[in-house]
Amino acid sequence: MSLPDTLPRTIGTLRRLVAFDTVSSRSNVALIDWVANRLDDLGVHVFVQHSAQPGKANLFATIGPQDLPGVMLSGHSDVVPVTGQDWASDPFELTERNGRLYGRGSADMKGFIACCLETAPRLAAARLRTPVHLALSYDEETDMGGMRQLAAHLAAAPVRPSACVIGEPTMMQVVIANKGAAIYRCRVRGHSVHSSLRDSGVSAVEIAAEVVAFLNALQRRLRDTQRHDGFEFPHTSVHAGMIHGGTAHNITARDCELVFEVRALPGVAAADVVARVREHCTQVLLPQMRAISPDCDITIEEIVDTPGLDERGNLHLARAMMPLCGCAQPGRVSFGTEAGILQGAGVPTIVCGPGDIRVAHQPDEHVEIAQLGKCLDFLDRLGARLERGDLSLS
Ligand SMILES: [Zn+2]
Repeated sequence: MSLPDTLPRTIGTLRRLVAFDTVSSRSNVALIDWVANRLDDLGVHVFVQHSAQPGKANLFATIGPQDLPGVMLSGHSDVVPVTGQDWASDPFELTERNGRLYGRGSADMKGFIACCLETAPRLAAARLRTPVHLALSYDEETDMGGMRQLAAHLAAAPVRPSACVIGEPTMMQVVIANKGAAIYRCRVRGHSVHSSLRDSGVSAVEIAAEVVAFLNALQRRLRDTQRHDGFEFPHTSVHAGMIHGGTAHNITARDCELVFEVRALPGVAAADVVARVREHCTQVLLPQMRAISPDCDITIEEIVDTPGLDERGNLHLARAMMPLCGCAQPGRVSFGTEAGILQGAGVPTIVCGPGDIRVAHQPDEHVEIAQLGKCLDFLDRLGARLERGDLSLS
C-alpha cells in the first residue's frame, strides 16, 4: 500500500508534539497554545477551556458548520513520566529507527493528534456537511479531570457531537468497550506497643495484609461469578499495587496505607465491588481491632473512579467506522480510556488509533510509521464521507 503524501509532514508535527514535555505533573498549555495557533491560521474556530488548576487546558475546535453535531476526534495531550526508565534515545526528541518513531507519547497518543492536525487543512478546505471537532484533553493519565471538564461543557452545549473517536493506540482496530478504572486508598490505624507484647497491640501492617488477602479472595469470587469473553482478562479485576507501613521490626505498626484498583467490566460498578471490601472491614476486621484498642480504624477513600465504555450504544458508530479503518472485527480492551466519560455525557464513542498499547508507558515507546499512514488514510476517508454527508451515525 502506498503511503499518504501527508506522512512526512505528519512526522514533523509529531516531532514537535513530542518535544513538548507534557508529563501530567507539568503544564500542557504550551502545547495547547501551539495547536490553537495552527488551527487559528486555518480559520478554524477554537475554544480553549482552562482548568481551575493553573497550567492546564483543554482544546475544542470545530471545522465545518458550527451549529451541527458532527464527529469528534479526541486525544489526550499529557503523557506518563520517563523517570527511572532506560531509553536508547532522548524520550522528548522523536527518533526514527527501522520504520519506527521513538519518543514519549508517540503511541500514547500524540501520533493520533499529529495525524488529526495534518488532516485539518484538508478538512478546512473541504465543504463539510457534517462538522469535525478536534478535542485535546489534559490529565488523562492521572484522574481524567480534563475530559470530565470538557464532557460537562459538551453535555450542557446547545449541540454536542453525535459521535466520537478517541485515538488511543489500538493498531487502528475499532474498540467498542473498555473496562472502568477506579483507584482506592485504604488507611489502617493500628495500636503501637513493644512487639514483645504484640497481643496487646494491633499491627496496622498485619491488618492491611488481611485486607490484601480479602482482595485476592474477592478476585477469585469475581472470576467465578462474572465473565465477558470479549475481554482478554474476562473478569472484573481487583489489584493491590502499593503498600507502605510500619517504622521498626520491634514496634507493632500504628499506620499502614494500601492503594488498590478495581477494573470493572462495563456495566459493573466499582463502588459495588468496594462495598464488599468495606463490609469485610467493618464486620470482621474492625471489631477484632477495637476489642484491643478503641482508637483503631480502617478507612477506604476513592481516589478516582472512571467509568468503562459500554458497547450498548456505540455499535452503530462502530459499524460506520470499521470500513473506513479496515477493521473486520470490533475489539474490547482492559485499559481505561476517557470514552466512558463521553458516553456518560451523551456522546457515543469508540476507540481507534495508531500504535500498540503494549509499548505505551514503556521505555522506548514508539509508533510504526505504517500505523500513522493507516491513520491518515482513515481520516481522509472519514473526511470524504463527511464532505458528501452520507455517513450514517445513528
Ligand atoms: Zn493514552
